[in-house]
Amino acid sequence: MELQGMAALVTGGTSGIGRAAAVALAQRGARVVISGRDAGRGDEVVREIRAAGGEADFLAVDLRDEASARALAGRARELVGEVDILVNNAGVYPFGPTEQTTGQDFDAVYSLNVKAPFFLVAELAPDMAKRGRGAIINVTTMVAEFGAAGMALYGSSKAALVLLTKSWAAEYGPSGVRVNAVSPGPTRTSGTSGMGDDLDQLAAQAPAGRPGSAEEIAEAIAFLATDRASFVHGAVLPVDGGRVAV
Ligand code: NAP
Repeated sequence: MELQGMAALVTGGTSGIGRAAAVALAQRGARVVISGRDAGRGDEVVREIRAAGGEADFLAVDLRDEASARALAGRARELVGEVDILVNNAGVYPFGPTEQTTGQDFDAVYSLNVKAPFFLVAELAPDMAKRGRGAIINVTTMVAEFGAAGMALYGSSKAALVLLTKSWAAEYGPSGVRVNAVSPGPTRTSGTSGMGDDLDQLAAQAPAGRPGSAEEIAEAIAFLATDRASFVHGAVLPVDGGRVAV
């Protein structure tokens, strides 16, 4: 129960990695607020956490711009008082050729993957800094680390989040707020269920040779949220079966 007395906000907590992260943080004693658009899936996660003796609430928010991000931060604060842990997990990952990408596609990806985390941190990090403690974990991706055909839009949005991780570590770290990232490789989630063999083929290129589970990614997120990572600032932790190492 090393997160007893802490409150965590996990975006995209209705599915996949976010859901597993919410469960893992709650198991360690954190009071968890999950956000997403799908109230049915949100309520299911809340029920699961509460049934296991944890504390959880769901906030329905479509993260599409600065206003929605600031509103989510405000509603989370109304629910739990202070937010001690922020997991910027909600994300979309459409793949495709650059020439077939529309301006609308571009804006949708950058709004959720970059703008929403940016303004959630703008809202929540200053309060953490005032209290002298906090942990922010951004969920990036291995394809923010190397070029991959068809992943220009997605990879570049997450590469922005990688740099933001380091920028925020520099900005808020001296006030006691640790900002880090977890960089997953191919992971089995609802979001990737439609990829079929492509997910296995992508995963086969890494030493582990298989896709990860959401729980394996969540374990790393939970570690970075706790004091066990007390000297870890601005790190991007690959949890990708070794893909970026070889
Ligand atoms: P997922 O199963 O598709 O879940 C995505 C989550 O984001 C859902 O909870 C969804 O909630 C939320 N979301 C999507 N659009 C939203 C919006 N406009 N407003 C608010 N919430 C929104 O995804 P996942 O596979 O677990 O991936 C989670 C994160 O890990 C993403 O950032 C992804 O880029 C990253 N990642 C995933 C993999 C992988 O192989 N799975 C690999 C590397 C990195 P609602 O549907 O309820 O809105």
